[in-house]
Amino acid sequence: MSLLVVGTVAFDAIETPFGKTDKIIGGAATYASLSASYFTKDINLVSVVGDDFPAATIEQLNDHGIDTTGLQILKGQKSFFWSGRYHNDMNTRDTLATELNVLMSFDPVIPEAYQNCEFLMLGNLMPAIQLKVLERMAERPKLIVMDTMNFWMETAMEDLMKVIRLVDVLTINDAEARQLSGEYSLVKAAQKILKMGPKYLIIKKGEHGALLFNNEQVFFAPALPLEDVFDPTGAGDTFAGGFIGYLARTKDVSFENMKRGIIFGSAMASFCVEKFGTERIIDLGQDEVEERVQEFVDLVQFDITLV
Ligand code: AMP
Repeated sequence: MSLLVVGTVAFDAIETPFGKTDKIIGGAATYASLSASYFTKDINLVSVVGDDFPAATIEQLNDHGIDTTGLQILKGQKSFFWSGRYHNDMNTRDTLATELNVLMSFDPVIPEAYQNCEFLMLGNLMPAIQLKVLERMAERPKLIVMDTMNFWMETAMEDLMKVIRLVDVLTINDAEARQLSGEYSLVKAAQKILKMGPKYLIIKKGEHGALLFNNEQVFFAPALPLEDVFDPTGAGDTFAGGFIGYLARTKDVSFENMKRGIIFGSAMASFCVEKFGTERIIDLGQDEVEERVQEFVDLVQFDITLV
C-alpha cells in the first residue's frame, strides 16, 4: 500500500529561546516522509532541491525506505530556504525568510512507478505545484491529506482554494484555521472550512493537542506534556507523516481509525520537538515509538460510570 509524499525538502535556520542554528536540513516532505517511515516502508517522494543539497541526507532518506527517484536535483540552483524565530511560548513563531529558489521553476514529475499510490500526502508546498501533482496522478489516490501554511494564504489564496476543494483531509494549525475561515471560534472555523471541500479537517494546536472534525463528529487528542520543548519546527509535518503513515499501514480510512492516526501522529510530533530539526526523528527505535504511544493511551484513559 504505497504512500506518495510531496512537499518541500529544504534548508532551515531556526532561532528558539534555547539556541540558534545555521542552515540545517528541514522541509515539510523531509519531516513527513521520515515520520511515516516508522509505519510503512513503501514511501515515494516527489520534491526538488538544488545541487547545494547534501547527497548524504538523500542517502539517509533512502535508508529509511524512502524512494527518491522523484526528487529532482536542479543543477546550479539553490534549495528552498526557510528561517524562523520562536517566541518564548514556543507555540508561536515569526517567519524571518522564505526563499523559494528551486520552487520557482519546479515542474513536478510523477515517476511511472509512483502512479498507483493509494495514499497521498500533499505536504506544504506552493499550491500551484500541489495542483499540478493532483492533475498528473493517473488515478485518484484512496486518501489525499493536505497541509499548508499562512504564507500560501497570503500569497496564493486562489490556487490554495482550488487544491483544498480536491482533498480528503486538510491539516492546518489553529491560527491558520482562523485566517482561512475568518472565524475565531474553531468550531465555526471548521464548519466553514469543511464547506470548502475536504471531508475531514485536523486543526493542530501545538502543545494543546489536535482536533479532528468531519460534518458530524469531533475528536480531540492532547499533546504529551513534555518537560522540554527544544524546537517545534516540523512538528506539524511530522504529525501529518505519522497520521498518514499509520492509515497506510492499517489500510483503513474510517473516522475511528483516523482517531488512532491522530494519536500516532501526535506521538511522532512529540519526538520531533525534543531536538533541533530532524535530529530526534532520524534515528528512533520501534520500541521508543510504541512506548510513546502507550504514554498517550495512559494520559487520556480513565474509567467513568454515568449514573
Ligand atoms: P512546520 O513547523 O510543521 O510548520 O514545518 C516547518 C517546515 O516547513 C520547515 O522545515 C520549512 O522548511 C518548511 N516550510 C516553511 N515555510 C514553507 C512554505 N511556505 N512552504 C513549504 N514548506 C515550508
